[in-house]
Amino acid sequence: MSTPNPIKAVLFDLDDTLIDWSKKTVRSGVISRKHVLNMRSFLVNKGHQMPSADDFFALYQDIVIDSWGEAKKVWAGVNFGKVVEQTLAAAKVDLSTINLQDVLVAYDWEPVPGIEPYADTHDVLTFLQENNYKIGLITNSMQPMWMRDIELEAYDLLRYFDARITSGDTGYMKPHPNIYNKALSMLEVAPQEAVFVGDRPGNDIIGANDAGMTSVWIDPPHLDYDLDGVVPDFTITTLSELKPILASL
Ligand SMILES: [Mg+2]
Repeated sequence: MSTPNPIKAVLFDLDDTLIDWSKKTVRSGVISRKHVLNMRSFLVNKGHQMPSADDFFALYQDIVIDSWGEAKKVWAGVNFGKVVEQTLAAAKVDLSTINLQDVLVAYDWEPVPGIEPYADTHDVLTFLQENNYKIGLITNSMQPMWMRDIELEAYDLLRYFDARITSGDTGYMKPHPNIYNKALSMLEVAPQEAVFVGDRPGNDIIGANDAGMTSVWIDPPHLDYDLDGVVPDFTITTLSELKPILASL
C-alpha cells in the first residue's frame, strides 16, 4: 500500500522563479521613470501644477528608497498606492482633489521589455495543474496584485493560479511568516502540505522554512545569491527538476 502524497499545493515566488529577468533590455530606472511620468502627464492633463519631470521622478525615487529601507526593518510590505500618495503630497498636489485609483491606472504598468517565462515554466505549471496540485504565488512587490496580473496575463500565466498575493497588498514581505500564512489559508492547505519555490535565500527560503513548508531554492545560472547559512530542503537550477522532487515527497 502506498502512502498518499502529502503535498497538496506548490507556491512560487514570481521574479526570477517563474519569469526570467536575465535578458532585461532596459534598465529598471528607465522603466520606472517612464511609468512615473505617465502619472505626472495624467495629472498635468487634469490641470494640476506639477514639478518638472526630473524633480517629480526624484521625489518618487527618494520615497521608494526610504519606504523599502523602513519596511525591511520589520519585513512590512511597501504599498505602492501609499508611495504614490506620498510622492504627490511631496509634489504639493492636494490629495483631496485626486482619485488615487485613476492615478495608479495612469501609471500604465506593462510587461518589462526582454522579460519572459523560463522555457519550462508553462510545462511545469501545466503538470502541476494536471496532477491536481493547487498553485500559489507570493511576490515581494510593492505593486498591487492587479498590476502584476497585467504581466501574468501577457505571459499567459494568470490562468494557473488558485491564489496570488503581493507584499504591497498584504502588508508583510517574505520572509515574514504572515505573508506565507495568508497564501496558505487562501489555498486552504497546511504548511506541511505545501512546497515553496523561490530564488532569494534570505527572503524566499528562510521564510518558507520558518513557515513549516518544504523549501526549494531555484538557483539559475544568471543569479549568484549566497545561501549564507540558509538550508533549503532542495536545490534546483530549472523548474522541471521540481517534478521528481514532488514524486519523492
Ligand atoms: Mg525572486
